[in-house]
Amino acid sequence: MTAIQHARVLIVGSGFSGIGLGRTLLASQFTDFVILERESAVGGVWQSNTYPGCTCDVPSHLYSFSFAPNPHWTSTYSPQAEIRAYLEGCVNDFGLHPHLRTGVEVQDARWDEDSQLWRITTDQGPWTAQVLVSAVGPLTEPKLPDVPGIDRFQGKVMHSARWDHCHDLTGQRVASIGTGASAIQYVPQIADQVKELFVFQRSAPWITPHDKRLTTAAEREKFWARPLLQKVARFKVYVSKELLVLGFAKQPKLMEILQTVVRKHLDKQVVDPALRRTLTPDFVLGCKRIVPSNEWYPTLQKPNVELVPHALQEIREHSVVGADGVERPVDVIIFGTGFHVTDIPFADKVRGLGGQLLTDHWAGSPRAYLGVSVPRFPNFFLLLGPNSGLGHSSMVYMIEAQVRHVRDAIRALDLAGATSIEVDQQVHDAYNAELDRKLAKTVWAVGGCRTFYQDANGRNATIYPDWTFRFRRQAVRWKPGAYRLTTAAESARR
Ligand code: NAP
Repeated sequence: MTAIQHARVLIVGSGFSGIGLGRTLLASQFTDFVILERESAVGGVWQSNTYPGCTCDVPSHLYSFSFAPNPHWTSTYSPQAEIRAYLEGCVNDFGLHPHLRTGVEVQDARWDEDSQLWRITTDQGPWTAQVLVSAVGPLTEPKLPDVPGIDRFQGKVMHSARWDHCHDLTGQRVASIGTGASAIQYVPQIADQVKELFVFQRSAPWITPHDKRLTTAAEREKFWARPLLQKVARFKVYVSKELLVLGFAKQPKLMEILQTVVRKHLDKQVVDPALRRTLTPDFVLGCKRIVPSNEWYPTLQKPNVELVPHALQEIREHSVVGADGVERPVDVIIFGTGFHVTDIPFADKVRGLGGQLLTDHWAGSPRAYLGVSVPRFPNFFLLLGPNSGLGHSSMVYMIEAQVRHVRDAIRALDLAGATSIEVDQQVHDAYNAELDRKLAKTVWAVGGCRTFYQDANGRNATIYPDWTFRFRRQAVRWKPGAYRLTTAAESARR
């Protein structure tokens, strides 16, 4: 039998969240923690998404840790390989290697009230931990559409987040399903390589012009020599992104005005009126993620590319069938169909007080205090949990606020000599009631679309509906009354 290993804090996942928390703990002299990573390398989504053209659509200066600026970005929007290398560099620079265990997958985690510890099962043996942190992220588990025949297909199947680079697409007939941020990046990259490309569009997205460009050696030198200048550049990007909150969350009417500007991109790139109509979204700009691309519309007009403005409805042995009923023979199907976001698969593995599964506790509508803590789940924290996502800016900003909150919670445990910490139910409920009140006025609620932001009950469980600096202020200012601390003696008396 494998011996039980113990860490005071067990972090699951080594993307931006896990690495950011590790660095923050070390910087505060907390050294007793371990990061478990199921893959063989760090990076999270920037490790697993390797599809052609994979690039961050948030500017590089902002999409990085504020405490680890990188003057060497080769582009104003970094490609995946560069972000992954950046994160590997962070692990080295922060001294996280001794804390990292790769190739270890958590199978389940159960709060043991008697010992006031988490008992964790992994495919590499059992662990215990006083504090468990889910840093697995919301865009982790690929989602395939629920269409009949998916197992019957005899050709090659890929998901954008599980790209098989050994499969040569040259000369093949390919169906690409979906028109989200991922498909819009890979479709233009593969169009010239394949023989035929059918792009299934269930709903047309809003596409803006992309202002990406390569950085110059002089720029990189400047940021390296004068880090303050990079801070200023970062701040400028932050402000320009934050202004979008006005339209997204405060006054969605503003998005309708902005929409007329964005619409010009479509008018300019697509001359055929019928195709233009097909590519015109039927919801307000911002309701679904806005995607920048200069190549999307031109690609759809290439002779070997057919835009199929329908959902995929059925898959047969050697073909796909759209909602138009037309059968199209293909060799490869690529699913750009997104992820299990609100039906968070990790919640099927975590049991809190009374052995209740987090999935059952949430009952289809995930909620947390600051996207981090859940009542009845003591000593458990999520990073990028419910309603801490953004449609307009950098998730790294939210992560930095949340990791400080988790660090402060661990500190509060120590200062009180307590064995467990649990968010107060009333504080949690009031926070979520406030979120719901704000969400009701946002473009995601009134913009006339259905997205993966919504959970099984139709609630937007993904997005934070306010200024991000407000979130940060709330998360980093520790409010002792928000949590209940329990000592070992109190827990024994229960
Ligand atoms: P997504 O936004 O969830 O898009 C999934 C697409 O699949 C949608 O267009 C959806 O259509 C379509 N779809 C689902 N079932 C279908 C069916 N049966 N037939 C036809 N179409 C179907 O997924 P994603 O593109 O992977 O992006 C997910 C998130 O990842 C993004 O929102 C973003 O947060 C992140 N991301 C970020 C970057 C970046 O640069 N930072 C890049 C890529 C992804 P409907 O629209 O009609 O639902």
